[in-house]
Amino acid sequence: MFGRTKHEAPADANSKNAELLTKGGFIDKLAAGIYSFLPLGMRVLQKINQIIREEMNAVGGQEILMPALHPIDIWEQTGRNKSMDEILYRTKGGEKDFVFGPSHEETVTPLVKKFVQSYKDFPLAVYQLQTKFRNEPRAKSGLLRGREFGMKDMYSFHANEKDLDAYYLKVMEAYLNVYTRAGMEAYVIEASGGAFSDKYSHEFSIKTSAGEDTMILCEKCKFAQNLEIAEGKYDNPTSDEEEKPLNKVEVKRGKSIQDNAKAHNCEEFRILKSVVYMVEDMGPVGVLIRGDFQINEEKLTRYFKKRLRPATLEELKKYDLVEGFISPVLSTKKPNEKIAFIADQSIRKMKNFVTGANKKDLDWANLNIGRDFEVKDFADFVAVNGTFKCPKCGHQLSEVKVVEAGNIFKLGTKFSESFDLKFTDKDGAAKSVVMGCYGIGNTRLVGTIVEASHDEKGIIWPKSVAPYHVHLVHLGNDDEVKAMGEKLYEIMMKEKIEVLYDDRDAGAGEKLNDADLIGLPLRIVVSKRTLEKKGVEWKERSKKDAEHVNFDDLISKICEYFY
Ligand SMILES: [Zn+2]
Repeated sequence: MFGRTKHEAPADANSKNAELLTKGGFIDKLAAGIYSFLPLGMRVLQKINQIIREEMNAVGGQEILMPALHPIDIWEQTGRNKSMDEILYRTKGGEKDFVFGPSHEETVTPLVKKFVQSYKDFPLAVYQLQTKFRNEPRAKSGLLRGREFGMKDMYSFHANEKDLDAYYLKVMEAYLNVYTRAGMEAYVIEASGGAFSDKYSHEFSIKTSAGEDTMILCEKCKFAQNLEIAEGKYDNPTSDEEEKPLNKVEVKRGKSIQDNAKAHNCEEFRILKSVVYMVEDMGPVGVLIRGDFQINEEKLTRYFKKRLRPATLEELKKYDLVEGFISPVLSTKKPNEKIAFIADQSIRKMKNFVTGANKKDLDWANLNIGRDFEVKDFADFVAVNGTFKCPKCGHQLSEVKVVEAGNIFKLGTKFSESFDLKFTDKDGAAKSVVMGCYGIGNTRLVGTIVEASHDEKGIIWPKSVAPYHVHLVHLGNDDEVKAMGEKLYEIMMKEKIEVLYDDRDAGAGEKLNDADLIGLPLRIVVSKRTLEKKGVEWKERSKKDAEHVNFDDLISKICEYFY
């Protein structure tokens, strides 16, 4: 077979999938983010493609193939030649400019326009398995982040939003089927769609030991959230307290929350933390939050719908704010009007805060909202982590490393308006077509499966996507053993069992190590020892121990195990 196992991973293989797939002879790197698929890798990819095709066909998707090379004018028509400029690969053919397609909304929308006129033409869904090109600055995680990569992209077309909503849910189910059939457990996460967008989308994430993203997961009710927008429940530990009289306290302390709590001999949640942000077009805004919580700047950005950053020390000075002692209250009955204060809702019910008095070495104790100061607005700004509880069921949340394995978007009429894709509705009116799009990186999925399913020896392929099912090995140079190996191989081929036969004259250690590295679900070993016992050694890749199986039972046992 073309391609072979290697002892060493490429020097820059800094992810498990790049390391194991290269060592196992599945892929070969041409340049950063650009890989060849060798025969073993190609078989995995084809099995994944087949699963994807079956699931897309089942929701009425029709397979097509659109060009990878796009004339620039269709990209100018949607303005994405500018908004996606950084990742576009461009080329010239004669005097004409072209783009290597990073996505296909610009080709599918004018294509569909040529064939639809009436509401009767909908719903319609087309998909393709095509190569995409994206100039990815961080192309370094093997098949997870490629510059040239395979993708299944489907586009759906509808007469109205309601029809899109129903179809969107169907595709969501189909996607979950794809991951389950490929041997993975996927979580659907409502995605943030970026801080400046109200776009509606979902991501599908696979749990891995070394994922590049983090999700917040409730193990009990399986509610999964994107870290950027995750919500969580928490206690309000001081909410039942009486409001105590406000005190000014002179104190020598450091600037951190921990220093502050120590100096006042109180819990960290009792410290009222003030962080000042410079908001674009607005200037400084103070954000108040419990001392033991952190501010999620993504949520804050979404709240303002403007760019923002923490204020510098110079800026704090400019607004007479004393670093480490910033406070919404300057003196008794005198609010800090130099800047506006908003607050995370976690402090709304809490009482008797400790915080600075906007003067070095001077603090307030027993500061209370309403009585001592007002907050302009409360909203959710808290950075949720594994210490919070599930907003749906109250169970403890956890932080889980994941790899994103697909996403689906409701595009609405954005692209149909760009290309004037209209149809005649029942009432005779001309309306814009409503669109959805649905992507799964099929080559990325190969890498994701490896990230999710391997051990220190190599890959552990799920049965459904393994390049072959049985790894047949003979050990030693004994003629009788070799003959039995050949015989078993022929029988398995005749029985249409997907078998990879290692007939090399290599040492036992090398052959067994390679079998573990390549990671087929079942290893069958013939050796002098097994021959004496009239059978073979049966070892499942996902299990620790091997067992003896007699020749007479072997084929039926294999068929039972796989088919
Ligand atoms: Zn829950």
